[in-house]
Amino acid sequence: MWIDSHCHLDAPEFDAYRADVVMRSRANGVSAIINLPGHVDHFEQAKLTRQVHGVITGYGIHPMWVAGPSGVSKRDDIATLRTWVEREKPDLIGEIGLDFFIPNFNQREQEWFYVEQLKIARDFDLPVSLHVRRSQDVLLKHLRKIKVRGGFAHAFNGSFQQAEEFVKLGFCLGFGGTATFPQAQQIRRLLREVPLENIVVETDAPDIPPSFLGTMGSQARNSPEYLPQIGEMLAEVRGISAKAFAAATTSNVWRVLAGRSF
Ligand SMILES: [Zn+2]
Repeated sequence: MWIDSHCHLDAPEFDAYRADVVMRSRANGVSAIINLPGHVDHFEQAKLTRQVHGVITGYGIHPMWVAGPSGVSKRDDIATLRTWVEREKPDLIGEIGLDFFIPNFNQREQEWFYVEQLKIARDFDLPVSLHVRRSQDVLLKHLRKIKVRGGFAHAFNGSFQQAEEFVKLGFCLGFGGTATFPQAQQIRRLLREVPLENIVVETDAPDIPPSFLGTMGSQARNSPEYLPQIGEMLAEVRGISAKAFAAATTSNVWRVLAGRSF
């Protein structure tokens, strides 16, 4: 059985069949899905989705909603998030992080949201799910100051040295659709080199479609039901059996979430 360690079931792409997708994923061999709404307006819906068996939920404000053309989050949303975390007792905080790739990004504002959310994770002793895009070192700088209980660095795309720094801070690195493309050489190398106990698999659905759904960067809709197929491809890159890879990545997720209520 596999765990999708990073997914956005709140996306409108799933509106018509949110519970079905979880059930179909389970039928395909996905025992759990970590659902991460990225905006306070989606928390209510995520709370409902959490009632579906096998759905693990984090609450957080995604950097995409903080700055840049789609920035709609307000600083007051941090207080809303804190209230939600206090009341709903999620399993983690996320998706949070920094994206220095999106056009017209506002670094100061993104860092403010990131730091405030790290404080919430620290105060409630929760792991975090991190969005990392051209921002590894700045993310690490704040993680060294605000100690959280580790978490997941999702769709990791950095150097081996940066990967090691996240691992030292208690993080697992997420691999998914991108690593199914032979041309993603650096990510595939990381997938072979990072210790197995620090690897988790993910879809980031509806984003990051794997190679069997389209070309790299295409708009094809990804879904957690494809995770076993993605996992098998990643196991091949890693050079181990799919069964051993599924077992290792599953136990890594549970270790990161250890002590949470699910
Ligand atoms: Zn994501």
